[in-house]
Amino acid sequence: NRRVAIIGCGQLAQMMAQEGRPLGVEFSFLAEGGENTDCVQGLGVIVQRKQGQGAEALYQALGCPEVITSEREQVSVGLLRALQRFCPIYPDPHIIEKAQHRLREKRALTDCGLPVAPFVAALKETELRGALDQLGFPAFIKSCENGYDGKNQWCVTNAEELEAALPQTSGQECVVEAGVDFACEVSIIGARSVSGEIKAYPLTENRHQKGTLILSRAPYANPELVAVAEHYLKTLLRDWDYVGVLAVECFICDRGLIINEVAPRVHNSGHWTLEGTEASQFTNHIRAILDMPLGDTSCPQPVVMVNLLGVDTAPKQLNQSVCWYGKKLRPGRKMGHVILQDFCEDNLRQRSEAVIKELYGAAKH
Ligand code: ATP
Ligand code: MG
Ligand code: MG
Repeated sequence: NRRVAIIGCGQLAQMMAQEGRPLGVEFSFLAEGGENTDCVQGLGVIVQRKQGQGAEALYQALGCPEVITSEREQVSVGLLRALQRFCPIYPDPHIIEKAQHRLREKRALTDCGLPVAPFVAALKETELRGALDQLGFPAFIKSCENGYDGKNQWCVTNAEELEAALPQTSGQECVVEAGVDFACEVSIIGARSVSGEIKAYPLTENRHQKGTLILSRAPYANPELVAVAEHYLKTLLRDWDYVGVLAVECFICDRGLIINEVAPRVHNSGHWTLEGTEASQFTNHIRAILDMPLGDTSCPQPVVMVNLLGVDTAPKQLNQSVCWYGKKLRPGRKMGHVILQDFCEDNLRQRSEAVIKELYGAAKH
């Protein structure tokens, strides 16, 4: 059997392992410091790095994997580089290094000639006001590091909100972005294998609530926008010599498609591929990093995924099975998801809106 080690032990690691095992792959998982509380139950062999343990001993503790991958970008690049002496790490640490820091990420995107919202670096607190002067309101102040699910970012629409947000940024390096007046948010996910085979999934429409994804719908069937999104995705996969699954989040606005951010990993907005395609994003990530041929990414019928945030009971009207991650309940936490499919778009919309309403109330999302 082939062995892959995954850094992280959350639901993305769990899904990669579940989908990878039928390919004859064994998995081990690295829980980095204090992260144990975030582990999903029943994962498998979890390795905790011992204090002062060198990279070689850690590599051995992980079972001498053929490849190492990660379920998240917030991971020590120094550790990755040390482990890289023993086996390939996909995606490569140079990509993780870009994706884990918003300013480096934006520069990497613009270096590839891809459009992002106007932004200004504010690496010191004193630079924040100047950045807002340049960009105007509304704007998003985002800390360069440790931002996910809308955390560590502040949307400011006037001077008062800016003053309220400033103390919260507490000296962190930030990027300030112009607020984008978007019609909707979409993401494109694709995989590139070691030998360079590329496959993209259908474009997915995403809905967020307070910065956290609550619903994804695919396929977003607008041929021009699909072509542009695929161009962005393929440009990044090739220019970065990328191996594995990459997710690109975009805004659709007057200017067309502009990139919000990228995730160098499997992505929440691709969970629908578990049921909506023959080869899920998780399968294809494992295939890509082991240089196996990529599976079919097409989506024969419309599909919706709804995130179950901060709840541990299934919406009543769901007769289909819910995928629970086996995590402890916390407010707003991603506890599971549900996938709905229907050849009739209207039926699907009705069913998914009923689920959203039951879970999150009648408020407009
Ligand atoms: P994720 O969980 O997707 O990694 P994150 O914490 O990295 O989230 P972003 O994706 O940057 O955060 O932003 C979260 C959401 O906030 C976006 O999906 C979008 O709805 C809104 N948002 C972020 N930046 C902007 C912007 N410049 N203009 C308008 N809306 C924005
Ligand atoms: Mg993000
Ligand atoms: Mg995002």
